[in-house]
Amino acid sequence: MKAFGLLGGTFDPIHHGHLRLAEEMAEALGLDEVRLLPTGTPPHRSAPAASAIHRLAMVQRAITGNPRFRLDTHEIHKTVPCYMVDTLGELRAELGHDVPIVLFLGADAFAGLARWHDWQRLFSLCHIAVAERPGYDLDSRLPPELDAEHSQRRTARAQDLRTAPCGQIYRLAITQLDISATGIRARIAGHRSVRYLVPDAVLDYLQHHRLYQ
Ligand code: ATP
Repeated sequence: MKAFGLLGGTFDPIHHGHLRLAEEMAEALGLDEVRLLPTGTPPHRSAPAASAIHRLAMVQRAITGNPRFRLDTHEIHKTVPCYMVDTLGELRAELGHDVPIVLFLGADAFAGLARWHDWQRLFSLCHIAVAERPGYDLDSRLPPELDAEHSQRRTARAQDLRTAPCGQIYRLAITQLDISATGIRARIAGHRSVRYLVPDAVLDYLQHHRLYQ
């Protein structure tokens, strides 16, 4: 049976931090396909700086050549706030109820999970894989209700995520790339280079469309 990974983000723009997260998780968990899911109207933050069309085009360019990665357009065209539980419900209807789906989250994103709409229902729809950061003490940052779910659902065995469709939490230390989309936008606005922070195909696109200037 195929197993899927999912990385949601504003991707404003997509960068090598996102791509390494997806690549290392997919490899560690033996996933067949990873969906990169650009958000439309994010419920938790201000509107993205670049349009949905540009963000989608950059993700498409960034993943070209990686046979495991696919662009997922479930959210990008929606004009109302998108909640991950709803998107995962749509994905489940499409992919089936038995296939493993693993949602990838950075440690900071995971620590804020209890603020997500209907977050406890996520565990009946997907597994969660958390990318750990050295020096970031995740355990001390979990609010009590998330800490309780985490203790109950945490597994150290990658194969547990292949043998059930949902419900487990897995933590993995990945290669640290201190890159953020915020930093990239600030560099461009300050007329500084972002070469090697993003794939070359994304750099070409940013320059051609004069994004974030
Ligand atoms: P911004 O700076 O605009 O907030 P971002 O670079 O953090 O953007 P997002 O689109 O918000 O990117 O992130 C999507 C997901 O990727 C989140 O789960 C986030 O934790 C993770 N992520 C972002 N940057 C990195 C990185 N450098 N290394 C590992 N994970 C990352």
